[in-house]
Amino acid sequence: MKFRNFKLVGYVVYGRGSFEQLDEILNPHRKAGQPMVFLVDHYFEGKSLPNRIPLRDNDIILYVDVTTEPKTIYVDELASRLKQEFGSISGVIGIGGGSTMDLAKAVSLMMNNPGSSADYQGWDLVKVPGVYKVGIPTLSGTGAEVSRTTVLTGPTKKLGMNSDFTPFDQIVLDPELTKDAPANQRFYTGMDCYIHCIESLEGTFLNEFSKSYGEKALELCRKVFVEKAMWDEESDDQLMMASYAGGMSIAYSQVGVAHAVSYGLSYLLGTKHGIGNCIVMNHLEEFYPAGVKEFKYMVEKNKIDIPAGICSGLNDDQFNKMIDVSMGMKPLWENALGKDWEKQMTRDRLRALYEKL
Ligand code: NAD
Ligand code: ZN
Repeated sequence: MKFRNFKLVGYVVYGRGSFEQLDEILNPHRKAGQPMVFLVDHYFEGKSLPNRIPLRDNDIILYVDVTTEPKTIYVDELASRLKQEFGSISGVIGIGGGSTMDLAKAVSLMMNNPGSSADYQGWDLVKVPGVYKVGIPTLSGTGAEVSRTTVLTGPTKKLGMNSDFTPFDQIVLDPELTKDAPANQRFYTGMDCYIHCIESLEGTFLNEFSKSYGEKALELCRKVFVEKAMWDEESDDQLMMASYAGGMSIAYSQVGVAHAVSYGLSYLLGTKHGIGNCIVMNHLEEFYPAGVKEFKYMVEKNKIDIPAGICSGLNDDQFNKMIDVSMGMKPLWENALGKDWEKQMTRDRLRALYEKL
């Protein structure tokens, strides 16, 4: 038995208003003549948050378009633009949801690694550390702030740059930054965390490390979406910690059926991660009976719409493409169903599941 020895985030600051400490945090990492580059979710353009970014010298803010989830070509374009303009940079700070944080991690790595980010989609392909990188979430749930991957859609696959060089050097967890998230988005991203917990806790890879974090994250999700089901400061504080703990739980286990199926939707139809997981979770009674029951209760109590019928009208080729992508997520299926998962999850069974969505 070989145990995973995983790299964690370097520094963590948590607290309402901790964003104000950013200048002090960044200063020791500044290199003469090289800017700090703030990659900011385009939602914040024209809002008040950018005025609070501690710009110095030749620092810049780049608003990133997260209408679609991050693509390798977008990462390559951002990194080559920065290399051309500045040569080197002091660091990258990603301020936004999971998409923006993933872009920041990937751009940091591509500042120092040759070729295209598509060359590094996989496990442990990155060989050189990136530039200093900071993650500042403005949505809670993905766990991208703590994970060792950055999920990218490339020319041939949707897969992360999963490596020891991928975790952030610093994260700033300030729940105040999530206060304006629309109710639906807050729920979809929050459910990503809930689903991480169910998949981790019900999975075959579970150990006490994952369980400890998964149970805590689940408890916090329940406080937010079952007990309260309304927005307030305390629930934003709780959801940010749920996201962190949920991410720590899957760091040592794996996600499961909802993610494996949702990856197919995302590859073919561009369905976004949070909502895609919710669409799938709605139909997973046979795999996670108690979790799905509670999920449905939360959907109702929080008055959220989960789209239905998104696969109606697809042809055989399209179903096969989704099945190929999903079946490729081997560790996820193994975690969910055990070593003999291929006997249990046949292409026909998966097709029947996609047809329900
Ligand atoms: P997101 O980053 O895709 O953003 C969703 C929407 O919310 C966007 O329109 C964005 O502009 C908006 N938004 C962000 N913050 C806001 C705020 N405070 N107020 C109002 N609007 C705001 O959403 P997400 O669910 O956080 O992230 C999903 C992404 O994360 C996917 O690309 C997925 O692949 C990735 N992901 C990564 C990991 C990882 O470990 N690296 C894990 C899970 C998911
Ligand atoms: Zn997820």
